[in-house]
Amino acid sequence: MLKIGILGGGQLGRMLLQAAANYPVETFVLENDEECPAAHLCHHFIKGDIQNFEAVYQFGKQLNALTIEIENVNIEALEKLQSEGVKIYPHPDVLRTIKNKVLQKQYYLQHQIPTADFVITQNISELQLNENFLPAVHKIGEGGYDGKGVQILKNKNEIEKGFNAPSVLEKMVDIRKEIAQMVAINEKGETALYPPVEMLFDPILNLLDFQLCPADLYIKTLWKVEAIALAVTRNFKSPGIFAVEMFIDKNGNVLVNETAPRVHNSGHHTIEAHYSSQFDMLWRIMLGYPLGNTEAIIPSIMVNIIGSEGHAGPVQYAGLDQVLSIENAFVHLYGKKITKPGRKMGHVTIISNERQELLHQSNKVKSILISRT
Ligand code: ADP
Repeated sequence: MLKIGILGGGQLGRMLLQAAANYPVETFVLENDEECPAAHLCHHFIKGDIQNFEAVYQFGKQLNALTIEIENVNIEALEKLQSEGVKIYPHPDVLRTIKNKVLQKQYYLQHQIPTADFVITQNISELQLNENFLPAVHKIGEGGYDGKGVQILKNKNEIEKGFNAPSVLEKMVDIRKEIAQMVAINEKGETALYPPVEMLFDPILNLLDFQLCPADLYIKTLWKVEAIALAVTRNFKSPGIFAVEMFIDKNGNVLVNETAPRVHNSGHHTIEAHYSSQFDMLWRIMLGYPLGNTEAIIPSIMVNIIGSEGHAGPVQYAGLDQVLSIENAFVHLYGKKITKPGRKMGHVTIISNERQELLHQSNKVKSILISRT
């Protein structure tokens, strides 16, 4: 039986392990927090720092293959493991490009992939030299996640809000829609595309709020989106699963925002609403089985359950009875012991052939969870 490890033990690792239970595979997780969401679902939990060379190298040495649930891992250790024959999904050089937003933007340029215009700034004084580039979005090269590390700079009075570190200063896009498309690529280079999803964000927390699948797109826009998602992922020349986040601007242009080389929040609905979920798909790829069917069985909406404002500490779930009584809703709790405002604690997927029903039930779920948690 193949031995496969996951770097990181959060909710993505947890859902990967739920899918692994269907396959002949022995699973390993490396993570510092012994109470993390994935700790109790793997065969072997190893406590260790995923950013530390020795920890990652020793963990990986005993394995046939490794994947990640977060980009911020020790890439040098993965490179050494790869050179010694351990398969890494995605390849470490892809992680190196994606982990740094400066390198990621340069990758899009190099491969003629449409993305918002940008300049690179090394520090605040370089940012000041670019004040005629505003309004723009300043994005820190490394270390940002979930909206932290992204700063909107409307005019030169806001320049001090920018980052004093290597960053991308990106033209503000007049966004009509934010979408994401998951792409699966196997060892042979065969690809499978999930239908794009359409997202809405919580304007205060800057976190994904809910997400509709399939995205409502003109057919010609859909073709563009698919061609771009394929160009982004194929040029990595690496097997794995990828989420390509894109903006559609007011003129119908499709621009790549960023790519994640792993299972992703924008694929959660695939667990119930698609034939092969994003998690199932990654196991198929890593175990050398045929790619799964990415088609939707039924349209869906996914709602993130996030930690409520004003409460940090041991988690309590309120309103679950009410949500669980909605017959077309599927609840996923990530098993995190501690909640804090904005933390992703779980998600709910609602399925229906009727768009109105999807919208109605997802708003209901959100209002129950927001007013009660
Ligand atoms: P993160 O990596 O933290 O998710 P993103 O780069 O995806 O950060 O940016 C977070 C959000 O900020 C996006 O989802 C989008 O709503 C907004 N945003 C990012 N870049 C731009 C842009 N160039 N123009 C307008 N809005 C943007």
